[in-house]
Amino acid sequence: EAKEKGRNGFRFYRQEMQVQVAERAALEKALHSAVRNDEFYLVYQPQVNKNGRLIGFEVLLRWFSEELGLVPPSRFIPIAEEMGIIDEVGYWVLDNACQQLKTWQDLGLPASFEGIAINISPYQFAKDSFVGTVKEVIENTQIEPRLLDLEITEGMLVENIASVAEKMWHLKEHQVRFSIDDFGTGYSSLRYLQHFPINQLKIDQSFVRDLSNDPNSHVIINTIVSMADHMNLSVLAEGVENPIEKNILEKIGCARYQGYYFSKPVTGDIATQYLCGSVSFPLERQGI
Ligand code: C2E
Ligand code: MG
Ligand code: MG
Ligand code: MG
Repeated sequence: EAKEKGRNGFRFYRQEMQVQVAERAALEKALHSAVRNDEFYLVYQPQVNKNGRLIGFEVLLRWFSEELGLVPPSRFIPIAEEMGIIDEVGYWVLDNACQQLKTWQDLGLPASFEGIAINISPYQFAKDSFVGTVKEVIENTQIEPRLLDLEITEGMLVENIASVAEKMWHLKEHQVRFSIDDFGTGYSSLRYLQHFPINQLKIDQSFVRDLSNDPNSHVIINTIVSMADHMNLSVLAEGVENPIEKNILEKIGCARYQGYYFSKPVTGDIATQYLCGSVSFPLERQGI
């Protein structure tokens, strides 16, 4: 009996595995042709200061596959990285985001607006061609490079320190800015930070989420903010979902925010309205 059960269990497990392998294969196949089939698009999430003024947009990639529907980036970015096509995908993001930025630049930007933030995969950054590619896109699209904020992760700063720093300094000379994404979740050694031209730390949303009930998160954010002050870095909190979180963050001294409380990521058209409408966030405050 037990043996029988075990065998069935194994058969079930094998079927599960086969489904997973088939799903993965379908995903890879669809991902291969996603750029060519024009299945990617970009959304833009507002970043705001403590007065609710727009200071930037984070550019977020979306994939609507003909066969698979909407696939979240947390699912397809790691696969694109493993497949070795994140470069191509990353180039598409950079080029299209900079084209959008150029349109906004030509419309005239509000005084509070500092630019757009683009997520850079470690694999993309590691390519020898990365610096040249960024410079080329800046030249082709005619954007002001100081409006470009590249989001990298902590993990990238602990390996190949010399070559990573060299690339960052090179781009920094061209006015490009850098933020550390999901700060506090990786291998945080506070000492390495000073080797790199970093402008901003983005506090990971897991700390913000725990803020109201976990005293540790309070302490961690406090520490990040005072460290950033000493190092002359900006701090932006990610994933702010309600006014309670915003108020605690403001009291701690974090004055830059991003999250559903202010706005979900929006299409380019709505982002244009935000930019041109001199609105403040959250929008409900003014009855929009
Ligand atoms: P991330 O860079 O940390 O981006 C923030 C994520 O948090 C986004 O998820 C955003 O929609 C979500 N978010 C924003 N506000 C809130 C909030 O108040 N509550 C909650 N629960 N979530 C919030 P998304 O768009 O699904 O992206 C997930 C991750 O995928 C990103 O995390 C980033 O690591 C990666 N990603 C997205 N676009 C790109 C891209 O163009 N290139 C690369 N390499 N990675 C990307
Ligand atoms: Mg990011
Ligand atoms: Mg993040
Ligand atoms: Mg993340």
